[in-house]
Amino acid sequence: MNIILFGPPGAGKGTQAHFLVKKFNYFQLSTGDLLRNEIENKTIIGNQISELIGRGEMVTDDIVDNLILNVVKDEKYKNKIIFDGYPRNIYQAKNLNKILDENQQEINLIVFLNLKRDDVIKRIENRVTCTKCNKTFNKVMDNEEISKSSCCSKNLIKRTDDKSETIIKRYDTYMHITKPMLDYYSSNSNFKEVDGSLKISQISSKIEDFIRS
Ligand code: AMP
Repeated sequence: MNIILFGPPGAGKGTQAHFLVKKFNYFQLSTGDLLRNEIENKTIIGNQISELIGRGEMVTDDIVDNLILNVVKDEKYKNKIIFDGYPRNIYQAKNLNKILDENQQEINLIVFLNLKRDDVIKRIENRVTCTKCNKTFNKVMDNEEISKSSCCSKNLIKRTDDKSETIIKRYDTYMHITKPMLDYYSSNSNFKEVDGSLKISQISSKIEDFIRS
């Protein structure tokens, strides 16, 4: 089964993808993570995109298309991919259909995590990520969980694009470019919408039900 998780930044795509990887052995394909790796490794692509990401702007389609193609055509991930952060616009949605088709695969579940602007801002302002295991936390709400984890408690950082101005820019960019994807996907029989303001465990259990049904 291949799954698309989409929704505004901070809606919990990464958290739910982590849950699905653990529970069902899927592969999380996060274009945001792949792009941040390119920046960290100072590759040619990394140098081209670091300013764009820092400003909360989209990276060009050709760059992200290449990153996902490498994963889709890899036999070891066949029918096990969670697309987290791709597609982000109609062109990418159509491109994804095309490359999946060329690799004898399809999308089996599309989950839209819906979250309002104010909730997005509140969540992202307090978001921290573990540099070792990539898990994300809310530094206000998840204090207890953070202190219990010997890995994460020592290695938490704030993403450079998680600043108030950038968050608003990212949300507005999302609304402008990504929202039309809702019209594109909502008539699909595999499309499901979930309220992103629910508890993490409630969202996970809804997604689990979709997968098992
Ligand atoms: P994310 O980790 O999904 O919030 O992505 C972080 C940033 O990476 C975004 O604000 C964009 O600049 C860039 N990015 C991630 N995925 C894509 C994509 N599919 N198309 C264009 N830019 C992307």
